[in-house]
Amino acid sequence: MKRWVKWTALLGLGGIIVSGTLVSVRVPETTAGGFKCLMDTTRGGWSDMTHARTGVTRALVVFVRFSDDDSVGCCSQGWPDTLPISQLPAWADSFIDPPDAGSWTEGSLSHFFWQMSGGRFLLCGDLYESVVVPPHTYEYYETTFVNYEPTNSAINLDVLDILDADTSIHFSNYDTNPADGVVDAILLVYRRAPQMWPFGGWAALFTESATDCVTVDGSLHVDGRKSGSGAMFTGLNLFDARTVGAHEYTHLLLGKDHPGMQTDGHWNELDRFGLMPMGQDGGTSMSAFERLRLGWVEPEILSTTSFGVEIGDMLTTGDVYIVPILSSSV
Ligand SMILES: [Zn+2]
Repeated sequence: MKRWVKWTALLGLGGIIVSGTLVSVRVPETTAGGFKCLMDTTRGGWSDMTHARTGVTRALVVFVRFSDDDSVGCCSQGWPDTLPISQLPAWADSFIDPPDAGSWTEGSLSHFFWQMSGGRFLLCGDLYESVVVPPHTYEYYETTFVNYEPTNSAINLDVLDILDADTSIHFSNYDTNPADGVVDAILLVYRRAPQMWPFGGWAALFTESATDCVTVDGSLHVDGRKSGSGAMFTGLNLFDARTVGAHEYTHLLLGKDHPGMQTDGHWNELDRFGLMPMGQDGGTSMSAFERLRLGWVEPEILSTTSFGVEIGDMLTTGDVYIVPILSSSV
């Protein structure tokens, strides 16, 4: 793998040692619906919006576990600590559907986006055959780097090195929507990860502080910036991984230039009615507002002469109405 510019910046960060050791990591007592999302609020850094909101995007999905990750707790039964380090959890097969599946597994990321988009967009993909184990321990990454961005960058770049060395992976399979020389989506699902434990994710693979872009398979680019070629998130079971994964991938679809959106790309005011509030406040499905911004619903505008309107199940039917506010003061 060829690493591009700002390599020296990563090396510089890598030289910073934070004192202290990792003690007693416990699996949390809560499940998804409450998670944190790491977004940089101080820099722009969002790459050009190239993520397709229609058609079929094929993602490479990779489960990752550190060699020293034997944490246990209430929620780890979905990915038991007793599982051999390279063995995928049982639900991994249900996380994303292959492109030729023909139908989409209830609860999968594929089914989620298919349903939210009303059949306009499908995120399908391939599950990497075994769990990738980074070359260093959880404790190494956590104590070597300062905060989430250089930490996650270092880990994800190491994981990409492992994937690029595997000649069975054809990265061109993941550059189709559009086929522009930049990989569309690599989704890294961590059993746990430093800086985003218990539940959390990051809508980037690595960013300007490390390197902008790497090449895989000799010529294809992986864009590590926000809204680039993928995302990382933790997931101990299908529901949690699907929820956080959907949130992070929706960052890639949305960018951050929308009415009412915070500068970090979240709509906190949506609270539990939406997928894109930050962290603890978010829900597990998209609101009509979010779907409208993605172009996935076609709302009917009601008038004062509209009577007897029946509202169906918005999530499954896409039935969305706009009620105009008639007050001249609004
Ligand atoms: Zn977020």
